[in-house]
Amino acid sequence: MTRLRIAVQSKGRLADGGLDLLARCGLRFSYGRNKLHQSAQNMPVDLMLVRDDDIPSFVASGACDYGIVGENVLREKYPAQDADSPLEIAMNLGFAGCTLKLAAPVDSAVDNWADLNGLRIATSYPSITDNFLRSKGVQAQMVEMSGSVEVAPRLGISDLICDLVSSGATLEANGLKPFATVLESEAVLIRRTQSVSSDVEATAEILMRRAAGVIASGQTKYIMLNAPADRIDEITALLPGSDAPTIAQIAGRDDVVALHAVCRERVFWETLEALKAQGARAILVLPIEKMLS
Ligand code: ATP
Ligand code: ZN
Repeated sequence: MTRLRIAVQSKGRLADGGLDLLARCGLRFSYGRNKLHQSAQNMPVDLMLVRDDDIPSFVASGACDYGIVGENVLREKYPAQDADSPLEIAMNLGFAGCTLKLAAPVDSAVDNWADLNGLRIATSYPSITDNFLRSKGVQAQMVEMSGSVEVAPRLGISDLICDLVSSGATLEANGLKPFATVLESEAVLIRRTQSVSSDVEATAEILMRRAAGVIASGQTKYIMLNAPADRIDEITALLPGSDAPTIAQIAGRDDVVALHAVCRERVFWETLEALKAQGARAILVLPIEKMLS
């Protein structure tokens, strides 16, 4: 059987999330995280642990079948609007979320798109940034940097920056303010648009179905509570993202029932307090480890 080859970042923000996700999909590897090439013991899957920047070209060339990479890294080399791109996103993976943002020094006078014409923009993503600005009718000058982009305006290397942001704290600490969002990114699973062998595709399908369950169950909770028998509708209406609940009788009681439901959205304290106000008691919120639907 032909083995499925997946490229994953060896160290960094995508490495832990990627390897955890594969482990939660049931893959077992014998060498921990230290070896660059690893074979799963229980499925026909091999991993290549590499730098994230190399992952799109490894998949495009056929050295690997699938890869886990930030959408930002994919789009820098393979723009979304490119109709005959050799790569496509097989699924979004729901971790390593971040935003590629244009930011200017807080005292900058830049106020609208036209103000950006001719300015220098420091970024590790010159292609995404330039394409985005051209779509806004702006011609700016890209200054490519591989890291520490946020110091460029202070050093006089650029007028603005375009960099990945998660909380915004780094921008603020460097005297920068966000000007516009260029790309919302998260980890994605990529593959070639031209399909690979059917063995490999079958293994990938199994893993992707499991991964969808793992990702969904991250937010999903199982709620159990006792509800007054005449308030079932009101209580059900309060449950976030749930299907019809299961109602079970409680021994020796006609006025109260047990209600169980899977909630596909986050359950906040406010929801529990509202449930209690409707007469719900003994409310339990349980994590769901695996889900297959
Ligand atoms: P490598 O050595 O593999 O090239 P790297 O330094 O390019 O590593 P990381 O800093 O680990 O990579 O970032 C990998 C990816 O994590 C980014 O491309 C991006 O998709 C995502 N990411 C999530 N949050 C952030 C953030 N705050 N800053 C930068 N990247 C982030
Ligand atoms: Zn990188």
